[in-house]
Order: sequence, then structure tokens, then C-alpha cells
Amino acid sequence: MNRKPNVAYFCMEYGLESSFKQYAGGLGILAGDYMKGARQHGFPIVGIGLMWKQGYTDQMISEDGKAYDSYHNYKYPFLKDTGREVCVRIRNADVYAKIWKVDCFDNADLYMLDTDIDKNDERWITGQLYGWFPEERIAQEMILGIGGVRAMRELGLDIDIYHFNEGHAVFAGFELIKEYMDSGYSYEDALEAAKERIVFTTHTPVIQGNESHTIERLMYMGANNGLTIEQLVSIGDAPFNMTVAALRISKAANAVAQLHAETANKMWAHIDNRCEITGITNAIHLPTWVDEEVLGNTDNPTRLWDAHMKNKRALIEFVRERNGVELDEDVLTIGFARRAVAYKRSNFIFTDREVVEDLFRKNKLQIIFSGRSHPLDDNGKAIVENLVAMSKEYPNNVVFLENYDMTIGSVLTRGCDVWLNNPRRPKEASGTSGMKAAMNGVLNLSVLDGWWPEACDHGNNGWQFGDGIEFIDDRELDAHDLKALYDVLLGSVLPIYYENRERWISMMQNSIDSCREQFAVKRMLDEYYENLYEV
Ligand SMILES: *Cc1c(COP(=O)(O)O)cnc(C)c1O
Repeated sequence: MNRKPNVAYFCMEYGLESSFKQYAGGLGILAGDYMKGARQHGFPIVGIGLMWKQGYTDQMISEDGKAYDSYHNYKYPFLKDTGREVCVRIRNADVYAKIWKVDCFDNADLYMLDTDIDKNDERWITGQLYGWFPEERIAQEMILGIGGVRAMRELGLDIDIYHFNEGHAVFAGFELIKEYMDSGYSYEDALEAAKERIVFTTHTPVIQGNESHTIERLMYMGANNGLTIEQLVSIGDAPFNMTVAALRISKAANAVAQLHAETANKMWAHIDNRCEITGITNAIHLPTWVDEEVLGNTDNPTRLWDAHMKNKRALIEFVRERNGVELDEDVLTIGFARRAVAYKRSNFIFTDREVVEDLFRKNKLQIIFSGRSHPLDDNGKAIVENLVAMSKEYPNNVVFLENYDMTIGSVLTRGCDVWLNNPRRPKEASGTSGMKAAMNGVLNLSVLDGWWPEACDHGNNGWQFGDGIEFIDDRELDAHDLKALYDVLLGSVLPIYYENRERWISMMQNSIDSCREQFAVKRMLDEYYENLYEV
């Protein structure tokens, strides 16, 4: 082929704009940035997604500090009606999905399927992102996968490569197999032919995070799309694992950072007949996340600092409006915003209260947290509530911003001084928030997980702590990392911030200049074409 292949990119969520509530977290942010990068740099990619009526949870905090979820129906006046629809047979009934086109965020054309139309009985399927019951999730994934391929046909789009961003789109592979079989191929030949056109990106280095379903449930829902039980099992095992299936029906797969590729290959080493997993490190869309004034002034320390302080003041104003808390622009401000799950250790810095209380008393440190948990995850809610409790205990120094979204993500990764990340290694797939921070001159203070080992030049463009050492026992790891965190915080971060502003600013310059190309979408898209689409 002497042109670039046309790619259909399948994803359950797209984070294009804060108020377009079609995303839950990092996966969606990546997909949104991918679409914008494709448009910006002229790559022939279209996106397929679902049009969520209620999106993901708006997770708020009550007066007494409890996390609760709320859902609203959203309407988007900027959607374009293609006038087309597709039909998918789900649980022995025809379900129709209308095809919307979204192209108003400087993004590549994105087609979103919507079951909330009059002629459907089952309008709920595209109601809430990552629905609550397994049947609901399967129905959603059938619309995305089977409906998505049919939408490409309905729209007359010529697609060479089907890219499954996460395993949710695996049923699209079943539809491609069915198309080949309908045109006369044997199952084996159809599988091989489909495989030539499918690639897969895995995002979840935690085994429990990889979705699976019983074979019976898939058959009952009709997700097999004509495949036999034996064929289903040979693709995804029993129970049917969506990631395993994706690894077996793709010609190539990738993880989202180099360390993550190592982890993923180990994690799936026992799976036969799967493709290799290479590493293509995530990246960000700079116009969305990075302040132009910061980017444009890396050669001028005074102006760079001024641009940073402008962003820091904007953050302080944002916090005042949202939470009524008055932060101090002269105090070192650490940001931490993450999905609330145990391995991310959100409250890690509070482990030795004396250390932080001493800094708070001397007014040397402010910390701003944000994060949401999955609505069904009680442990995650407890993590959020613990952070809220900390903000009540230290009201002048600790803030929790409720309902983490792109607006909060953007204000924080521009306006903090330091971006903290302390997951139990190696569980972070990539971590694009750290890239946003780095390019805004917000210095990363992070364990060597996700993308950070590829970027970190310790003491020059940010800091690592813990030296990437792994322990089998979580308590040992926690103790090791905690000592390392406090050593770097007290021994480097604070002294440089308060006593050597010149060096701090030169670290900001290094942070921006070492990341601005390597972690920008163009590099990522080039690698997807070279190492995944065109292999
Ligand atoms: C950037 C961003 C993410 C992804 O960041 P991680 O570092 O992977 O946590 C998630 N949510 C929001 C709202 C973001 O802006």
C-alpha cells in the first residue's frame, strides 16, 4: 500500500471537552487526544464510540464528607445527524442505533452510536458509561463492536485497519469474521483474514481490571454473532476474557508505555496463540493541555516564571471559587489527581503525620487532591472520603476538589508546582497527567512507573523516588517508598523551591524541553502507524 492505511479507532469513551460527558478517565482522555492529534497532523483515522446519554458519574461530596454519585441527562446541540442507523440483534431482539457525527473539537471524524431512539424498546443501552450489570455491559459492547463495523459499512467508509482501544471492542472482530464467512470463507480462513486487519491496545496492568464474561452469558446475549461455543472458547477461553480474545484476534498489540509492555507480556505469558505486545508510550495533545505562554518562554527564566505564576494564581482562584479555601501563592503546591483505587495510594504522603504536620505548621506545603471512584467501588469511595477528611483536618493546607474532570485536570496540571504520583509499581499503565504537568513546567515527583522511567532525569527535570525497586510484600514496598518520598521531598524539592529559585526554574525549562516532542501526539501517531498499523 503506498498510502497510509485508513483506520477505524474503537473506544468506549472519548474525552474531548470537559462538558461533553463522554469519558470516565485516562482511557477516554487518550482517545480524545488521539482524535485531535489525527486531525491536527492529517492521519486518516475515524473514531467509533457510543453516545452516552448520562455519561459517567458526577461524583459529589456531601456536607458530611461522603462521596455520592449523581447522573443527569445531557443534550449536545453540536451533534450532527448523519441520517443513518445500524441494527444489532441483542438477546433476540433488533436494537437500532442512530449514528451521530462529532467533529467540532478539532478532532478527526468521530461517529457515535445512540440507542436512545423512539423505535427501540431497549433505549437504555447507551445510557451510562460502563453500565452496572454484565448484561448491560455486553449489550453496550455489542453496539460498539458489531454496530461499529456496520456503521462503517452504512457510511460507506473504506477501512483498512480496525484498532480496538481496550478489549471492549472485541465483538467488532466477530463481525469481521462473520463478514468473511458470509462471503464464503471457512471459519479458520475468516479468522486469519480478520486478524490481518485488527490491532489492539491494552491499558490495564492489573489482572482483575481485565473484563471477562461467562460463555453462557455471551451466547444468551447473542454476542457470539454466529460463532459456536467452541470457537468462542478458542478465542477468549472460558470464562471469556476480553483482553485474551483481543490478543488472539489481532495481528499486533501494544501497551501504553515501555515498562507497561514488559509487564503486559509477563502478565499474558501463559496465553497461547497471542500476538506480541510492543510498547507505544502514550502522549498528549498540546493545544488542549499545555499553556502556550509557558511553552513559548522556555528560553526566558523570568517570563517562564511569570507564566507559571499566572497559572498558579488561576488555580488558587479556581480553588477559592469551588471550595472557598484561600491558598497562598508563595507556598509550594503539590497536586495529586487520580482515579481512587488502592494501588495508587492517594493518601500516601500522610502516612507519617508528623512529617506533613510540621510542614503545614510552618506553612511550607499545600496539597490539592482530586479523584473519582467507580460508582460501585466502596473501597474507592472510602479513599475519596479519606482525602476529604484530610482537607477538613488541615483546612488551610489541604484541598479536595470534587468530581475530577478535564477542567480540574487542566487547571491542576498547569497551576501546581509539583505533580505527585506514587502508585505501587508496576501498576500504572502510563499516566498522561504527568506529561501535561511536565510540559507546563510543573515538576514531576513520581515513582518510576508508567511513562516516567522514559522521561525522568532525576534532579534535572523532576524527581523519582524509590529507585524502581519492587517488593512482593506491599508493606515492605510502602515502607521503602515512603522513606524515599520524604527524603526527596525534604532533601531536594523543598530546599530548591524555597532557597534556589534559579535552579527550580531551570528544572522547569528542562522538564518542558525534554518532554514537548517525545510526549506529544505526533510521535505517538507515527509509532502507531509504523509499529502497529503498517506491520
Ligand atoms: C489527564 C487526565 C487523566 C489521565 O491521567 P492519569 O495520569 O492517567 O491519571 C484522567 N482524568 C482526567 C480528568 C485527566 O485530565
